[in-house]
Amino acid sequence: MVDDNLAAVLNGLSVAIFVVDCDQIIRFRNSAAVSLFGSWTQGTKLPSLVPNKRCIRAIENVLDGDKRASVSVKLQLVVPTAFRMTAQRLNPEAPFEDAQVVVSFEDVSHILEAEQMRSDFVANVSHELRSPLTTLVGFIETLQGHARNDREATTRFLALMAQEAERMARLIDDLLSLSKLQTVERYAPTLPVSPMPVVARVVAALEPILEQERVRVDLHEAAPLPDILGNADELTQVFRNIIENAAKYSRADSVVTVTGALDEADPQMVRITVTDQGDGIAPEHITRLTERFYRIDKGRSRDKGGTGLGLAIVKHILMRHRGRLQIDSAEGEGSRFSVLLPIMAEPA
Ligand code: ADP
Repeated sequence: MVDDNLAAVLNGLSVAIFVVDCDQIIRFRNSAAVSLFGSWTQGTKLPSLVPNKRCIRAIENVLDGDKRASVSVKLQLVVPTAFRMTAQRLNPEAPFEDAQVVVSFEDVSHILEAEQMRSDFVANVSHELRSPLTTLVGFIETLQGHARNDREATTRFLALMAQEAERMARLIDDLLSLSKLQTVERYAPTLPVSPMPVVARVVAALEPILEQERVRVDLHEAAPLPDILGNADELTQVFRNIIENAAKYSRADSVVTVTGALDEADPQMVRITVTDQGDGIAPEHITRLTERFYRIDKGRSRDKGGTGLGLAIVKHILMRHRGRLQIDSAEGEGSRFSVLLPIMAEPA
């Protein structure tokens, strides 16, 4: 039914393929079919291996003369898995009793997951843009209405409107950064960058925010660090987001410590650590902080002008740099955000 050469080709495919006869008895299955649906013995019918009514009906329709049938099904394997099943006659000219139908199962779970993520993201972005917009529209209506001649209210409302407009602008900047990063993520940066001067420039630029939050930053470099291969603008964004978070989510009159050293466990990496004296983060939140729009306390993030995208941007930049972010924290004990970046290899 399937010669050795064809079998070898089919065994090399990741799609599960069966060939069944007119009684839906399995005459051939490739390696992917065995690993997904388990092995079979001589005479096993496909419906006993895949007891799904829609699949069975699709194969029957092809046996009854349809050229091809295709259905989307969710099958309960080790975990529920979404498949696109397609059935097609191999020998449409042959009589029914000699019929051969090729049945393929393509795992489409990742496509559905990507689609779900995309639609969740669009819903989140719309919501995040709509809320400052709603506030702005509310203030405009008030200023056009009963507060029209109230100078004091006008000044106060205009300041709040400026804040909301800035938040919208920041959100759009962050969204553009994320989308730009996704297009270049595969390509590692190629220019040498000395990381600690980047950190020092970020701390200097954050001075007004540090002052406002009443937080002091202590900067320590264990010894001059080797260069890394990086993009200075992107690394600036990484350290700005992390140090700004440390200041925003810390206590007033506390100290944020930033240290740079070679990583003890892997001296091929530099480790830049930002430690704050804030409230700390419970374990269930830690693994989710780099998800887009994930915040522990939405109100607090909003009050601090956050977009909920800062750590997602950090994660993507570090992926492009072949580095990683490590978060250590315990509730009530402050947090430590460590950026690990591979050092530039010495020329051979
Ligand atoms: P945001 O714009 O809300 O700050 P981020 O992506 O930068 O978004 O951070 C996500 C969330 O992680 C924040 O809303 C906050 O709840 C939490 N977070 C980040 N840094 C810290 C920190 N140093 N201490 C406590 N919580 C933090």
